[in-house]
Amino acid sequence: MAPPLTPPVRTLMGPGPSDIHPRVLEALGKPTVGHLDPFYLETMDELQGMLRALFRTENPLTMAISATGSAGMEATVVNLIEPGDAMVVCVNGVFGTRMTDVAQRAGAEVTTVEKPWGEVFSVADLAPALESKPKVVGIVMAETSTGAWQPIPDIAAAVRDAGAMLLVDAVTSLGGVPVEVDQWGIDAIYSGSQKCLSCPPGLAPVSFSPRAVDAVMNRRTKVQSWYLDVSMLANYWGSDRVYHHTAPINMSYGLYEALRVIHEEGLEACFDRHALNHQALKAGLNALGLEFTAQEGHCLPMLNAVRIPDGVDDAHTRRQLLERFGIEIGGGLGAFKGQVWRIGLMGYASRANNVLLFLAALEQLLSEQGVSIDAGSSVAAANSVYQ
Ligand SMILES: *Cc1c(COP(=O)(O)O)cnc(C)c1O
Repeated sequence: MAPPLTPPVRTLMGPGPSDIHPRVLEALGKPTVGHLDPFYLETMDELQGMLRALFRTENPLTMAISATGSAGMEATVVNLIEPGDAMVVCVNGVFGTRMTDVAQRAGAEVTTVEKPWGEVFSVADLAPALESKPKVVGIVMAETSTGAWQPIPDIAAAVRDAGAMLLVDAVTSLGGVPVEVDQWGIDAIYSGSQKCLSCPPGLAPVSFSPRAVDAVMNRRTKVQSWYLDVSMLANYWGSDRVYHHTAPINMSYGLYEALRVIHEEGLEACFDRHALNHQALKAGLNALGLEFTAQEGHCLPMLNAVRIPDGVDDAHTRRQLLERFGIEIGGGLGAFKGQVWRIGLMGYASRANNVLLFLAALEQLLSEQGVSIDAGSSVAAANSVYQ
């Protein structure tokens, strides 16, 4: 017999999962109903409405894929791409690289446009690739491996002018910064439940523009993935309610409550809170002499990636944060492994007490490792932002 399950209570300040809102945890334990129960069908309708309001779109085809953010990536790519289609992917970190792999597996002829990690793309960077008239252009709005915040509006306009469809990764951005699907003209977008939505991992909100739906409905070939074929999923999420797969009922309850929490706070207030806590954390980290990896002026509020100071042990520091202070942060991915820490302030985790606790803990751990620090300076710097 295995022991009873007693997970420790952590403060989740990494790249996701983030701290789960208590109301979301409570919702997960509500009675399970059938996936065609009238109550559940109503819940799905409300869920879709709240997702549209968060994505700022009227797109009828807006729903949650029953899997994590990567399945959202896969769902948007495999539905828009047919074997031999040309796709441009912008790569400046791990998730652009992943999108390239997904697109190639779907049979796309992929052209990558690359920038150094931490930098963002301008229209000029994409112009040469757009001349080849791709069908789809994929870009990551919040590159969680570098902390870079990619502006979308100008690129969306250029992609549209080139006659291509724009596919946006909003896994980390949705719920933390404004995402304007209709106003910017995004054709396909996906997110994940465990970043700024503060819900456990397991659902991937997606939305497709009418133009993208047209492209899906007029394919020459069947979508390569049965599970992620949105033309079939639309029959379940739409008015026909045709069984496709058994929806993860209780996860939908969790996402439902997570969206209620966000809309109750209000989108503007929610984005302002993310911005304020980021400013406070940044002031504290700067006081400790830590530098951000993202290009100046393009630092994400919900994902703060900083260079690890010389002489400081990455694994030791993160283990001590976890064991002594109960705080999880992320290490570097790919090219940034061992060189970068990723500190998340996502959704419910974006709170002043998390910022102040983390800075106090980090200051202690760095000074134990011989970094010369003005005691209390980082917490004071953060507090001055709050005042
Ligand atoms: C986390 C993340 C993903 C992948 O999501 P999973 O839920 O881990 O599958 C994709 N893109 C970005 C930008 C992410 O941060």
